[in-house]
Amino acid sequence: MSSSSSTSSEDPLQLLFMGTGTSTGLPLTPCLTLSNPYPESFSDMVPLLKATNESSNEELKHKKGSWEPNGKFPKNIPCPCCRSAIDPDVPEGWKNKRGNTGCLIRKTNKKNGQIKNLLVDVGKTFREQAARFFPVWDVKTIDAVLLTHGHADAYFGLDDLREWCIRQGRAIPVYLNQETYEKVCEAFPYMVDKTKASGGGDVPQLLWRIIKDDDELEIEGIDVKVLAVHHGIYFHTVAPTPTPTTIASTASSTVPVKRLEPEPLICLGFMFDSQIIYISDVSSIPETTWERMLHRNPLSRKAILPTPENTPVSKPSTPITNGNGNGEGEGDGEEPLPILIIDALWPLRPHASHFSLQQALKCSLRLKAKFTYLIGSTHPTTHYMWEEICNSLLSPTLLSQKIIDEAEKKEREEHPDKIQSDYLVKKVWDKVLSKSKSQQQSNNDELGLGLGELWKRENRNAIVRPAWDGLVLQVPGYKSGKIQDLVEVERKDLSTRGLVY
Ligand SMILES: [Zn+2]
Ligand SMILES: [Zn+2]
Repeated sequence: MSSSSSTSSEDPLQLLFMGTGTSTGLPLTPCLTLSNPYPESFSDMVPLLKATNESSNEELKHKKGSWEPNGKFPKNIPCPCCRSAIDPDVPEGWKNKRGNTGCLIRKTNKKNGQIKNLLVDVGKTFREQAARFFPVWDVKTIDAVLLTHGHADAYFGLDDLREWCIRQGRAIPVYLNQETYEKVCEAFPYMVDKTKASGGGDVPQLLWRIIKDDDELEIEGIDVKVLAVHHGIYFHTVAPTPTPTTIASTASSTVPVKRLEPEPLICLGFMFDSQIIYISDVSSIPETTWERMLHRNPLSRKAILPTPENTPVSKPSTPITNGNGNGEGEGDGEEPLPILIIDALWPLRPHASHFSLQQALKCSLRLKAKFTYLIGSTHPTTHYMWEEICNSLLSPTLLSQKIIDEAEKKEREEHPDKIQSDYLVKKVWDKVLSKSKSQQQSNNDELGLGLGELWKRENRNAIVRPAWDGLVLQVPGYKSGKIQDLVEVERKDLSTRGLVY
């Protein structure tokens, strides 16, 4: 329960995971109530979900993992992920309880010595997650909010900032793009126009700061680079262009029809202090954004946008020296990225609005990320299964360094979901990580390696892991113009367990 590490003289940047789950949050209530059969279309994600209770076959029983069809609640829940979230007998099963993706960026402001908290997204589960983690993390203020996009899981908790504004005695600045601002206006008119408030009249005092796709900001002493990515598509109505025919005609059959046109939905990712890239919702990354991610020199800052009143403006961070002597352009991209936090909904299948494992790994490879944390996952894949998939990518070098200690290894071997998990890991290698027939044509790389082999060759000292709610990451500050030992990223589990706060 200690929070003493947050004020080191090294001025570390901390990231605290508020939520790491998909838009619904996990566990899903219909899974807990056994309401309907598990969707058939998901059966390829985790094997043997349909195993029935008629068999007394020991092997099959084991393959069902921790599911006991005739057992007491919650052991009778077929979905391994949602069951694990509330079954205390599943090792680390509580990590399957996931709120909407969001995090808290934390740093000591050098100017005034105060710890500043930047909240990224305030989704549907914000209130619950804040109650779970803020007391443990000793979070006493919310100094600014960044919104990624205009979906419910990113901003429906804005109303819960009301009490924070009252206690702090000041408005909280909210940084968001124009599209998200319009969504907020529709959902919460009283937050942007106080004449629309009713009842007691208390509304959150928020300062709306519209930001653009390529902005570079400084918020409370933290460099924030905006990274615009695509998050699926949406349809917007296009008014018909009047033509001579339509103008001349008065017949109802020729009334011009509005068209619906698809357009990519822009979601904002962020880079913090050139050390952490956070992208929670992404289906594709435009090349312009790739360039911004690969060129991480903080001195490339173009402009400092208006920050809230009384925010001290600090100097840009010391530039990162380029390790390969190539002082400009692409060379910056050679510097490994300390931490990448990236969307990965499913391990096997692609999705229209989200990255899956394959795209997340490719992104990490291109950025040369030292530590990659996967977020945004959904059921039925469990946290344990995700860990096993990620561990299968660990190189022999890392394994020999005992990244997983003996006690953990033993616990993993004896995990009740091990057989299910082994099956899934094999399937992931067959379908996603190994070189497939189709890849032999399209060629993943010049040596014809599959993604998994490529990862082990190119990223042999990199680590990829599923994140969980409550995980804290810490990167050391700059020293002598270089990011300090990248391996010293610190992981702490300060989360509480189970369904209670
Ligand atoms: Zn479920
Ligand atoms: Zn979304």
